[in-house]
Parts: sequence; structure tokens; C-alpha cells
Amino acid sequence: MRKDQTSNTIYDNHGRPITYVRLSVTDRCNLRCFYCMPEKGMKFLHKKELLTYEEMERLVNILVQLGITKVRITGGEPFVRKDLIKFLTNLRKILGTKELHITTNGVLTNSHVKNLHQLGVSSINLSLDTLDRQRFKELTRRDEFDRVMETFYSLLEYNIPTKVNAVVIEGKNDQDIIPMAELARVHPVSVRFIEEMPFNGDGAKYQSLTWNHRKILDTLKVRYPEIKKLTDKPNATATEYEIPDFRGNIGIIAAYSRTFCGTCNRIRITSQGVLQTCLYDGGVFNIKNYIRSGVGDDEIKNMFKKAFGQRAKDGFEAEKKRQISAIHESMSVIGG
Ligand code: SAM
Ligand code: SF4
Repeated sequence: MRKDQTSNTIYDNHGRPITYVRLSVTDRCNLRCFYCMPEKGMKFLHKKELLTYEEMERLVNILVQLGITKVRITGGEPFVRKDLIKFLTNLRKILGTKELHITTNGVLTNSHVKNLHQLGVSSINLSLDTLDRQRFKELTRRDEFDRVMETFYSLLEYNIPTKVNAVVIEGKNDQDIIPMAELARVHPVSVRFIEEMPFNGDGAKYQSLTWNHRKILDTLKVRYPEIKKLTDKPNATATEYEIPDFRGNIGIIAAYSRTFCGTCNRIRITSQGVLQTCLYDGGVFNIKNYIRSGVGDDEIKNMFKKAFGQRAKDGFEAEKKRQISAIHESMSVIGG
């Protein structure tokens, strides 16, 4: 395994640097987005099955020593977990000037935006699939549109870099693509359209994807013929586009088509403490069990390094090699 001599970056078995961890702090959520979890019957983890904040802080410390430069807090809905701001404050100390990002549905976020600004949070990804209140209620099964929009405007007020993430689902919100894109005309935000993935938590068979990245782009091109692709950012999952006179930009994330695996620099730690070196791999090992059996930092580092050296080349290979059978888990456990 290659290790950078000047930084401590570790490269995986396909020569990709591992610099980004997505940490899911809870699987619980105050919405029930239908593409993420069933309306009823979700069996949420017991508190003792979750990593504690102290355990997560220890892991982030170790990962920083292994070259991680970017952490994203996700869930479930991260702001549902008690004392999140205290945890973020501790993380900021561990990370110093390294990047700290959060993905949130925005329902409980508004009252914390000032704190997030003070903590120097690098950016917020706000999940919002429609600007239509009724459709929002149908998609999320909760009537919380207004609170999400309040968060959106607070993020703008505090100048926190904001990306709005919309999952595009056939027959549910494809009519929202243009209205959502228009947000980036008026506001300096990135609006990103994400292909739907089969992590809906009910084990249902997944049909082939109609609204893939090509169809999303074609739809945008009809309305905005001058749309222009921007240069790809290193390790980005989104292909970004600019449109004349827009203050922000547009992104398309081919999450199901998996076009970006060749430069993937990310790992995930799920809410129950499972390391995933690919979104599709179903989990490599449960770090929490090792931590609780008393293993030291050096041993944990070696386990990470070993896992980084055995990554699947892409999401298709990872899916094929899954230990557990077909995809059945909810995205709320993995964190997106
Ligand atoms: N609750 C937070 C939120 O919604 O932003 C954070 C966790 S959520 C699991 C993270 C991201 O995963 C969200 O942007 C959500 O839209 C996306 N997501 C959830 N299920 C998905 C699916 N089946 N396909 C594509 N994206 C999905
Ligand atoms: Fe909750 Fe986010 Fe899943 Fe929606 S996508 S149910 S907000 S975890």
C-alpha cells in the first residue's frame, strides 16, 4: 500500500487516496422519505448499538492520523441526536482547520445555524426534493416543508456554503427538476440532482432506473440550452454545470450508475459502527465491537489500513461481493 511521504495520505489498492470519511451519528429520523425508509415498522437501533460520541471522536482522531482531511456528519437525521452541537465542537478541535461538513434534512437545523457558522462548518448539504409543499409531504410523509425552507434561508443569511440535494424519482418529482434548478438562478447555492438508489429499507426489488443522470441532463438542456459543463473537481461525485446568469450552479450525481468510482476517496462509518469502504459493500467490519473489546489505537489503525488495501474497484464489484445478500438496508443507517 502506498503512503504519501509529505502528507500522511494512504492510497488504496487502486491508487486512490483515502481522505474523506462520512460518519452517520444516528439511524433515527424525523422524516420518512419513501426512497430511504418504509413509513412504518422501521426497527431503529438501540442507543447502546450506536457509537458513542467519545468513540466517534477517538475514531476521527485516528483517521486524521491516517490522512483523512474531510469529515461529513450525516445520519439518519444528525440533529435528532442529543447534544450534536457539543459533539461538533469537540470534532472541530480534533480537526483544526480540516473540513467539517454536515448533511441534514433541515427540519431541526434552523436554530443551530448560528452555532454552525461559529464552528466554521465548511458546508451544509440540505436535502430537499421539491418546492411544492404538498409533494414534500407525500415524499417525506411529514408536513415539514416550511421548517426546511426556514433553514435554507438561515444558511444563506449566515453565508454557509450550501448544496441542495434532490433525489429524482420517476413519477414523483421529475416535474420539480426545473423549479429546483431555478433556486440556483436566484441564490448562490449548488442544486444537485441525485439518481435514486435501492437503499429504501424494505428489501423491495429495484427496477432499472428511468431517471438516470443522462435523462436529468437532457431535461435541463431543453430548458437551458446554454448549460455548460464545468471542469471536474478532484474526487467529486457530482458533475457540475453552469448556466448563464445563475448565481449558483447545478450538479448531477450518478449515484446508481456509479460513474465516479475511479476517483472515490471516501469511506463510511455507519451509525452502528460498521466500516464501509464502498456505499454498496454492505460493511467490512464492525469497529465498535473492536473498540469495546479494548483494542488500542495502533491495532485500529492497522485494521483500517488493511481494509483500505482491499477496496472494491467500483460499486458494481462491491455489490457483487456483498457478504450479506441483496441490498435491503435503509440509507438512514449508512448515511448516504
Ligand atoms: N437525514 C439527512 C438528510 O436527509 O439529508 C442525512 C441522511 S440522508 C440518508 C443522506 C442523503 O441520502 C440525503 O440527501 C438523501 O436524499 C439521500 N438518500 C436517501 N435515500 C436515498 C436513495 N434511496 N437514493 C438516493 N439518495 C438517497
Ligand atoms: Fe430521514 Fe434523510 Fe432518510 Fe429522509 S433521507 S428519511 S431525511 S434519513
